[in-house]
Amino acid sequence: MAFSFQVLGQDKNTSARRGVVSTSHGVIQTPVFMSVGTFGSVRALDHVDLESIGVQIILGNTYHLYLRPGALTLQQRGGYHNLIHWNAPILTDSGGFQIFSLPHQRVISEQGVEFKSYLDQAGRFFSPESNIAFQETIGSDIMMVLDVCVPSTSARDIAARAMERTHRWAKRCKSAQKNHENALFGIVQGAIFEDLRKESAAALTELDFPGYAIGGLAVGETDDEREHFTQYTAALLPANKPRYLMGVGTPHDLVRSIRAGIDMFDCIIPTNHARQGVAYTFSGKVKLRRAALAIAEESIDSSCGCFVCRRYSRGYLHQLIKCDEPTGWRLVSYHNTWFYERLMERCRDEIMAGTFDSFSAWFLSHAED
Ligand SMILES: [Zn+2]
Repeated sequence: MAFSFQVLGQDKNTSARRGVVSTSHGVIQTPVFMSVGTFGSVRALDHVDLESIGVQIILGNTYHLYLRPGALTLQQRGGYHNLIHWNAPILTDSGGFQIFSLPHQRVISEQGVEFKSYLDQAGRFFSPESNIAFQETIGSDIMMVLDVCVPSTSARDIAARAMERTHRWAKRCKSAQKNHENALFGIVQGAIFEDLRKESAAALTELDFPGYAIGGLAVGETDDEREHFTQYTAALLPANKPRYLMGVGTPHDLVRSIRAGIDMFDCIIPTNHARQGVAYTFSGKVKLRRAALAIAEESIDSSCGCFVCRRYSRGYLHQLIKCDEPTGWRLVSYHNTWFYERLMERCRDEIMAGTFDSFSAWFLSHAED
């Protein structure tokens, strides 16, 4: 099935909307949180866990998969879905963000970006064309263009040059796409300059991508700036295409951004913070390392339906996390990923019921982020 997006409902008081994305590996109900599976698994969880939680789509990371296992293995195994035994949708980023985070190990030119492998220090190269060819080898349902990422706090001329090259590369990525069963999303850049964001949204809309991401946020700006530029940029994007806010965020970030009209998110927070013993609930965070929880008999959240909350106490999880036991990391990751899924489900239901405005106001005002 070719890629499509349909808006099923629009909130009257906010820009929130409820939609469905169709891909050749199944449908995705939006707003959706996408779990990050950098190397082929969501950290600390396996696919049976993800299926029992109701995870609809996972992320793969082009930069890491290019280095290991590499194109040959992926070709021989018939793509990434086959290699990792995951038959649901997969989105891959282009690796741009990772490569540009290596300041002394990459050289950017108009042709593309040269970088060093962190595995063996060998030189590698991505052009927009070779990057799309590799994402097609992965076989991802949603591919991202190779963009030029700069910190959101960059000076205007640096942000403008990166944005202009991002537009030229977006055009090249689009021309390089051979498999049109899968979708290729454009990425709006422009740091924290309204005129640049406007120019970027217009240039990419002109190229007519099936979906649009907002890039270059969650990399150095304040929370208020992120909220403002999410709202500002989302409003510039076509209403009939999915909008993806990359690398965001906390439960509050997600709900605030859904209010702004964002449909898709990804972030490492649920599993990363789990390792530090931070559990998320509808009433806020529970810090499991706190000494006071050593003898706590109650679960993370008595209203949560996940198996961790049905069986284990905060005191037991405190013990596992304090002792750095992998099982502790897994159990808290399971609960957090469950919570993120239920939060998105709740948002979808509230949008359809016409009550999202009051639900989101309640959630943002009472739950500690
Ligand atoms: Zn739970």
